[in-house]
Amino acid sequence: MSDCNSCPSKGKCGSNSESCGIKNNPKNKVKKIIGVMSGKGGVGKSTVSAVLAKTLAKKGYKVGLLDADITGPSAVRLMDLKGEHAYGDGEGMILPAVNKDGIKVMSLNLMMDDENQPVIWRGAMLSSCVTQFWNETLWGELDFLVIDMPPGTGDVSLTVMQSIPLSGVIMVTLPQDMVGMIVTKSLNMVRMLNIPVYGLVQNMSYVKCPHCGEKINIFGKETNNIVLEQGVPLLGELPTNADLAALSCGSGEITDPEILQVFETLVKTIE
Ligand code: ADP
Repeated sequence: MSDCNSCPSKGKCGSNSESCGIKNNPKNKVKKIIGVMSGKGGVGKSTVSAVLAKTLAKKGYKVGLLDADITGPSAVRLMDLKGEHAYGDGEGMILPAVNKDGIKVMSLNLMMDDENQPVIWRGAMLSSCVTQFWNETLWGELDFLVIDMPPGTGDVSLTVMQSIPLSGVIMVTLPQDMVGMIVTKSLNMVRMLNIPVYGLVQNMSYVKCPHCGEKINIFGKETNNIVLEQGVPLLGELPTNADLAALSCGSGEITDPEILQVFETLVKTIE
């Protein structure tokens, strides 16, 4: 089923359709696949994935969001799709849910009757689920598929990086040395697998005082993050911000110009 013509890595990977292990469904034509990764959970990887997808959609791009964080899925909430389900198309493909911005979304919670039920699966099951989300979802024609990557450097992350032809990865971190150390592990994994790294987003870098606008660095001034020492460009710093937090309830419109600017930079970097 591999089809180099529909693969974003066409002509760059050294394989051909016979030797390639990736099942690249010919029904899907995805131009660029952007992984948003952290290594550490809870640092804002899903939030950055969601706002990036929304920013791209606002610019008129055809966008998909694949939630590869199978055990901690958040895309359904972030895309305001609570209560929606993904269905089969009757021909062996899964139809993604589509949100009000026109973003096609695939997440395990779209297949669960009760979003509160835990997914207690071994690595092989998780990995096979992610691969199905890639090659059995009817993404159709997309300019960008944003992948909310699984946390950590284990089985599922490895599967995503080896079986989905990522165009590159955006790393998300916090301005804290301990988080930076864990994110650096993921960064090194990405590099070992020869996947390009677009750069770093430092989330929760500051809180802006609503009265005087002063920026308060709640983690201290640890902005010279260890990740930056690895030669990764800093694409932007995001504040801890109520509108960003509200996205997890499906609401919240980003109006802060500094936040919007960070996402403009991300879009320019991946375009
Ligand atoms: P991850 O995907 O890395 O686990 P999430 O994007 O799910 O992280 O974020 C973890 C929590 O922090 C969520 O509740 C989210 O709403 C919140 N959050 C993330 N980034 C911000 C931010 N910049 N400001 C306010 N809340 C944030």
